[in-house]
Amino acid sequence: MQQEPLFYTKFPTYKEIVCYVKLIKLLYPKNVAVFQIGKSCQGRKILMVRLSENVDCLKNHAVLIDAGIHAREWLTHTTCLYILNNILEDPSVLSLMDFYFIPCLNPDGYVETHKCNRLWRKNLNRNNSKKKARMGVDLNRNFPVAFGTTGCSNDPKSLMYHGKYPLSEPESKSLAEVMRKFEKCLKLYISLHAYGNVILYPWGFKKAAIKHSRELQCCAAAACEAVLRKCGECRFTYGSIARKMYVSSGNTADFSYGMHNITFSYIIELQKGSRHQGFGIRKQMIKRVGEEVLAAVIGMVEYVFNFYNEKRQKRIKCARKCTSRKSGKLKRRSKRTKCSSSEEDCEDCKDEHLNRKRKIRFSESDESIIPPKMAKKDCDNKDNFMHCC
Ligand SMILES: [Zn+2]
Repeated sequence: MQQEPLFYTKFPTYKEIVCYVKLIKLLYPKNVAVFQIGKSCQGRKILMVRLSENVDCLKNHAVLIDAGIHAREWLTHTTCLYILNNILEDPSVLSLMDFYFIPCLNPDGYVETHKCNRLWRKNLNRNNSKKKARMGVDLNRNFPVAFGTTGCSNDPKSLMYHGKYPLSEPESKSLAEVMRKFEKCLKLYISLHAYGNVILYPWGFKKAAIKHSRELQCCAAAACEAVLRKCGECRFTYGSIARKMYVSSGNTADFSYGMHNITFSYIIELQKGSRHQGFGIRKQMIKRVGEEVLAAVIGMVEYVFNFYNEKRQKRIKCARKCTSRKSGKLKRRSKRTKCSSSEEDCEDCKDEHLNRKRKIRFSESDESIIPPKMAKKDCDNKDNFMHCC
């Protein structure tokens, strides 16, 4: 794109975001695909952009980045678009992974912040009420993991109202469907928020550490190093949501990690502003924050790519070792090349075994974390939930 896009110097409206998405699809037909992943409460389209080296040949690994789940966090929309635009201009990172961007996950709320109430946070569900004070659901409390348990409210007037039931909102359902559909290839999930200058990972609903906390810390550290190299300083710190920020249940990072097995699941809290209770940031900051977060994201993508590449190499080695060991001593029972040793025997495959167990535990037995009713109702196959547009 020859001309500098408008969101480098101003906060775009919802319509301007839609126009930009349509424009890049026309300008970069080989790299860009656009999907409508759902519609908001008031019928606005929720769009997702996929960037790949070649639209007809996708990579095995992908990263998903969403912005604006909280409407008033305007810096997230511009940062998401900044990253997208810069990768289009320098697509070298697309050799590692495909990128999925949802630049405006809560379009109704975003329009509300432009037209009426700059500090609106939730979506615009009417909640069966005519009173504006009772409108809206906090979409980042509406996801199934530990829904409605802590750091949220069952009062529609609250900023953190979790909604009637998990995934009750069309916006959260759209994101959940993207994760379900692309579960196999999604290796990194990043949800942009403001503010705090902090890179957060699960759990949000409790202070206990996740099994992969070391890996997630290393990846966050790689992001910080990348920012330092690119920008000369790094203001980001990192830690778990519950420990570093506050306890919150039903958030997207817990959901992607706990239910969709996306090990590298993050929330990145961006720069605090000087107006509108910290959500209003000077337009001059858009580029600087965009540059920092772009560097962080590329650092994370490189780390995650290397992580899975090394894991794959180990698995190949392990499969060879296991197969030759068995064929030497025992009769081969199957022609499978995948490692078939028990998890105790085989360190390299242990992670995979445990991941499988973790998923089963979450989806079937832990009723306090995921209501079984939701799991059945909302995880049905809906293959046509989105279409190219
Ligand atoms: Zn937020």
